[in-house]
Amino acid sequence: MQLCTIASGSSGNAAMVRTESTVVLADCGVSCKRITEGLKEKGVEPEKLSGIFITHEHSDHIKGLRVFLKKYHVPVFSTAGTIDEILRNPAMNECDKGLFNIVRQEEKLTIGDITATCFDIPHDAAEPVGWCFVKDDKKVSVCTDIGIATDTIREHIAGSDAMVIEANHDVRMLEAGSYPYELKCRILGDRGHLSNENSGKLISEIWKENMKYVFLGHLSKENNLPQIALAAVENEMAKEHGDYEIYTSIRTANRDIPTDLVTV
Ligand SMILES: [Zn+2]
Ligand SMILES: [Zn+2]
Repeated sequence: MQLCTIASGSSGNAAMVRTESTVVLADCGVSCKRITEGLKEKGVEPEKLSGIFITHEHSDHIKGLRVFLKKYHVPVFSTAGTIDEILRNPAMNECDKGLFNIVRQEEKLTIGDITATCFDIPHDAAEPVGWCFVKDDKKVSVCTDIGIATDTIREHIAGSDAMVIEANHDVRMLEAGSYPYELKCRILGDRGHLSNENSGKLISEIWKENMKYVFLGHLSKENNLPQIALAAVENEMAKEHGDYEIYTSIRTANRDIPTDLVTV
């Protein structure tokens, strides 16, 4: 299986997961043009996509969806709550509603040779989820926009060979920064976003030697820096797993440009 992000951050998110015969997207949160360019850079024609798996309805996860669907007619999979919210937007009337497929949490869904499962995450959206994609004995997970780490999250992302996991903010930068008080409370809350430190703790809790790649994603533009996120996560990992670097490469996912396509 292969994984990359096309964009990752508070301004837009999309990740690509592929096998030899199946390509899917997790979220579609930048313009159709940028998604298309990102896919092509990785050698994938957008019309070859087998599905788009949406985590939740916030605009940084669905911004490019309307135009992408009009152009490429790819099926969309998400929870009932998320699909309701997406289709509530009158602009989505332009899209073929038949492309939207409701998936129940924890239910296994097979698309080509990939089995996808979504699971509950604590975030201030209608019915937000993370996604796991499995082929044979390999597992890739995408889990961002999580207020706190939960047992449900740990159970599902455990055993991942590669994953995109949120490291949204440095708590000190957020507290000292210019965001209004209410927004700071929202981000720090249990249904907001995961701090660098808590991201490191979560990764450390579920880490196994098979975890080859970790992309730290959804970094805040205002309240984080790639080197700070990476240092905080590496610090948490080093506390529990002194030799993790032999097995695992931890990188930050870039806001604007695709990451390398990694293979597990
Ligand atoms: Zn969100
Ligand atoms: Zn988001």
